[in-house]
Amino acid sequence: SSSPRSAKLLRALVLSPMLLVAQSQAFQFTSRRWLNLQEYQSKKLMSDYGVRVQRFFVADSANEALQADKRLNAKEIVLKAQILAGGRGKGVFNSGLKGGLAEQMIGYNLATKQTPKGGVKVNKVIVAEALDIARETYLAILMDRSCNGPMLVGSPQGGVDIEELVASNPELIFKEQIGIFEGIKDSQAQRMAENLGFLGPLKNQAADQIKKLYNVFLKVDPSQVEVNPFSETPEGQVVCFDAKINFDDNAEFPQKNIFAMDNKSENEPIENEAARYDLKHIGLDGNIACFVNGAGLAMATCDIIFLNGGKPANFLDLGGSVKEAQVYQAFKLLTADPKVEAILLSIFGGIVNCAIIANGITKACRELELKVPMMVRLEGTNVQEAQSILSSSGLPITSTIDLEDAARKAVDNVSKK
Ligand code: GDP
Ligand code: MN
Repeated sequence: SSSPRSAKLLRALVLSPMLLVAQSQAFQFTSRRWLNLQEYQSKKLMSDYGVRVQRFFVADSANEALQADKRLNAKEIVLKAQILAGGRGKGVFNSGLKGGLAEQMIGYNLATKQTPKGGVKVNKVIVAEALDIARETYLAILMDRSCNGPMLVGSPQGGVDIEELVASNPELIFKEQIGIFEGIKDSQAQRMAENLGFLGPLKNQAADQIKKLYNVFLKVDPSQVEVNPFSETPEGQVVCFDAKINFDDNAEFPQKNIFAMDNKSENEPIENEAARYDLKHIGLDGNIACFVNGAGLAMATCDIIFLNGGKPANFLDLGGSVKEAQVYQAFKLLTADPKVEAILLSIFGGIVNCAIIANGITKACRELELKVPMMVRLEGTNVQEAQSILSSSGLPITSTIDLEDAARKAVDNVSKK
């Protein structure tokens, strides 16, 4: 199609998945993609607003890390891999390293309990002045939909996974609801500082940091600012040792359980995992999963789903070369999304043999026990053989004659939104 709308979407898909957000108004769907800043980006923002973080530089090569080390001229330095998943302190690199040398970090995969099994590639490290930690607490500011405003959440027990703490020691979680018009009150910052266990002069200092963090929250409008650990040093300074600022495009949170919103295991790894297999994944809020190769086909598929009264749940773009392992991973990602009620697969087998794709599809669907109906539109080399592989598979797969047919059948198979 050559409508202006399609052209825009094509550009968005080609340039950056993030741009899809801007385009989404025209389509009346919203992206479910979250924007999560890396630690160094979060810390930069925070320090711009007067929040105390360690002195640091960012390096993307071992040489740069060395330079940074020199410039910091610190007694001791700490190297921190910049990936979105947490648990880095206990993570393992596929270089064998368990923490330490930049040349064994950059370019290698780091696996933590929050990453996919093979880990996530590290492109940058923070080179920071190491400080001693006397005590670790947890602090976060969230946009809480249930009270329709910001919420301060803290615990005197930091450094650990907050989800685990919520489960094991809910009495150690403290909350302060903040009036969006009044802003954070001195008394609230003081009370939180006290609940976090900051004593004597540290209490005022912590309260001051909390107010500054709230100011960041107000100014940059994220869904969450999380500092874990929010710590004190033996020298009596309150320092933010870690930082995570997340943005939610449609700011749509689960109503009650504020910690359930921290579903990074669902959101980030999807992006990470997709990227690892050279797949481009874009999360949307409809119920039809779209599995395509090429941005042009993604655009056309999107248009035709809308024309038939449906909404895409996501896009997974295989790109040019299709490999069996890739197809398997793609299905794994698509079927992991609970919103998906049907899958529309539209692949043009110009370079890739359709029969190979069909074999990949049936194998993956068997292993993953595909439950939702899938409409398949294949075109290109060996399409006849591909269709017979699919139709004799015994899986809930419908071969369709063209994209229009596939879209109509997909829309017929999902609930109306
Ligand atoms: P995460 O595990 O990925 O969330 O990474 P963090 O930045 O939170 O670091 C994990 C843990 O390493 C923290 O809870 C601290 O105990 C420790 N840590 C991080 N930076 C420093 C530092 O500069 N000095 C000391 N002493 N410990 C640190
Ligand atoms: Mn942390």
